[in-house]
Amino acid sequence: MQEMAPNTGLYNPEGEQEMNVIFLGPPGAGKGTVAAVVKEEFSLEHISTGDMLRSEIKAGTALGLSAKEFIDAGKLVPTSVIIDMVAGRLAQAHAGLLFDGFPRTVEQAVALEGIADIDVVVELDVPEDVVVERICSRRVCAECGKVYSTLTYDGETCEGCGAPLVVRADDCEVTARKRFTVYKEETEPLSTYYESRGLLKKVDGTLPMEEVRANVVALFKEIAK
Ligand code: AMP
Repeated sequence: MQEMAPNTGLYNPEGEQEMNVIFLGPPGAGKGTVAAVVKEEFSLEHISTGDMLRSEIKAGTALGLSAKEFIDAGKLVPTSVIIDMVAGRLAQAHAGLLFDGFPRTVEQAVALEGIADIDVVVELDVPEDVVVERICSRRVCAECGKVYSTLTYDGETCEGCGAPLVVRADDCEVTARKRFTVYKEETEPLSTYYESRGLLKKVDGTLPMEEVRANVVALFKEIAK
């Protein structure tokens, strides 16, 4: 694993407080969608391990090839691979990090402690049937990665860049349920882990996106005081 200095960086050069944040929640909880709408406002760098893995797959790298079989089966990619990838990414990042889909196990959370100080963990609470329905109706832009839902958008191309919308290979019902089970077994213990450290804040992820966004923004403002 790569060695690097801890990313504490609680203050930017302008003296405003910056936060390092984790979005926790099952696949399909809306972590990426909420991240996309709050990152600008709080100058956060969005670190999505799922997006990073999909880029590696698209680029046909050895890492991508080995990760693909885990992803397509709805399983977690081995932690050593993930930590190396995240450490490499953080070597080019500044404080104000928004982790989405990482950490996913207590082992990863412990490894993250040596890399970055976390100010708040936001858990998006959404039950299984809701996430499965959301995952099965998810479409993503093949070029820019913007996420759509067939429940709210019936176009076949991205409104932003015009590229075709595609279904992620792991977004079928069987894999979605498998990913939810993996979440319950391996990732949900992080809820207790961060609660015991006084970092956990729960947000109802079944609310309309604008309300989820508003609740997360209010929470961040409270933390940044
Ligand atoms: P996501 O886009 O976050 O839903 O991630 C898609 C898939 O990538 C997951 O189902 C895992 O196979 C893999 N993955 C993403 N992040 C991690 C992680 N932190 N640890 C292990 N596997 C991951």
